[in-house]
Amino acid sequence: MTAAALPPSPGVTVRAPAKVNLHLGVGAPRPDGLHPLATVYQAVGLYDDVTVCDAPEWRVELVEPDPSVPLDDGNIALRAGRALVEHHGLDLAAEIRIDKGIPVAGGMAGGSADAAATLVALDRLWGLDTSDTDLLRIAAELGSDVPFALIGGTAMGTGRGELVEPLADATDLWWVVVLSDDGLSTPAAYRHFDELHPDAPSEPPHPDALVAALAAGDVAAVADRLENDLWAAARDLRPDLVEVEADLRSMDPLAVLLSGSGPTLLMLFGDVDAARAALADVTALGHRASIAPGPVAGAHVVHYG
Ligand code: ATP
Repeated sequence: MTAAALPPSPGVTVRAPAKVNLHLGVGAPRPDGLHPLATVYQAVGLYDDVTVCDAPEWRVELVEPDPSVPLDDGNIALRAGRALVEHHGLDLAAEIRIDKGIPVAGGMAGGSADAAATLVALDRLWGLDTSDTDLLRIAAELGSDVPFALIGGTAMGTGRGELVEPLADATDLWWVVVLSDDGLSTPAAYRHFDELHPDAPSEPPHPDALVAALAAGDVAAVADRLENDLWAAARDLRPDLVEVEADLRSMDPLAVLLSGSGPTLLMLFGDVDAARAALADVTALGHRASIAPGPVAGAHVVHYG
């Protein structure tokens, strides 16, 4: 990883995972304009590493600069740092260095991972002992996917996705994550969902069969029950994804799934060898792809001092 090429710096490094939605049930927009969700999150093995250290002023930098990631208050990691300091009534600042391994704007919640990692890293750096309840509440205010990035594993998400409950998951899944060169705006995907589904329920149904299959460790049943309500909207907004989807289905995965609001697509396999073979095939077709196991842990310290 590129971070290894940089001189070691004192501070705390926290690693936070990307997420996929094994189920993304979307309801009709609430009065506040946000969509009620019934979603099953799974943390998968693509990570951002966030390193924090004391600084006279807030500052965020990327190990590999990316013009699509803001370095001002638009960066959700910076907002997380300020929110934690405000919660404790402190006057502290930090430098936040982000080493991104999660695709940007890919529907895998990379920004949310950075926010969760920043909360944990600063809590440890300054010995704040923030309670789990408070961390989850601050996380929920930052963004709907941030609480899940804290807990990781596999979890049910309700509300707008911010209310998370860990789920029993006895599966061992292998994902081939297929990236897209062009982005797909999350608000645009939800707007088009509203156009396509004027009769969406106010409470999307709970995915009971998927939850049972996960607990039983039944990978075939999990594959049959993967679902994403945003898929039709994503296909309309990005017709090129239909062709990619056909390429992926020809590789005989257990399932193909749109990741969150897309445009990243996922192939599911039950073992790493099958995933490796598909990775070689999909790469030979010219797609950018990588392998990620799931479920994995949420934000956790990997370096201290
Ligand atoms: P969403 O949470 O909107 O579904 P996503 O998971 O598809 O997003 P992210 O990688 O989180 O994708 O980025 C969404 C947008 O958030 C980016 O285009 C970028 O402008 C902005 N952003 C703010 N902070 C960050 C960050 N730390 N990392 C990545 N993007 C960030």
